Amino acid sequence: MALRKIRVDGDEILRKVCKPVDKMTPRLKTLIEDMFDTMYETNGVGLAAPQVGILKRIVVIDVEDGNAYCLINPKIVLEEGEQEGNEGCLSLPGLVGTVKRPNHVVCQALDINMNEIVVEGEGLLARAICHELDHLDGILYKDKALDGIHSVDEDIKK
Ligand code: ZN
Repeated sequence: MALRKIRVDGDEILRKVCKPVDKMTPRLKTLIEDMFDTMYETNGVGLAAPQVGILKRIVVIDVEDGNAYCLINPKIVLEEGEQEGNEGCLSLPGLVGTVKRPNHVVCQALDINMNEIVVEGEGLLARAICHELDHLDGILYKDKALDGIHSVDEDIKK
């Protein structure tokens, strides 16, 4: 198990557009394993490669629905409905904001063996997919937060 350092807001790498993966390599497999380890260790539900400083189109997601997803070169091919809810990010520790997302998405991607997969997400999974894919284009949830972002402590007080 290896943990990677999570880049935080203000680090310019979080604002770059990531490059597609053209082939799986032992190095990328290790990266993906480390991304899962880092996500679980920090109690996140998702992590994108740029958050650990790698500008590749790779995300990992686990919203505790019994699946752990590794999505490579992911694309959202269908969005339906709407949900508004609180969102946080491992790159903006201690902060939350309300973000509007589709309630249902269909995402095409490659898995760790570079096989094509389709992942359908509702609710939290749809939110996590949208949030993580935004990272691959240098977008942070705070850019979309309806009333800005605030500290988690403030949220508890409300
Ligand atoms: Zn994030």
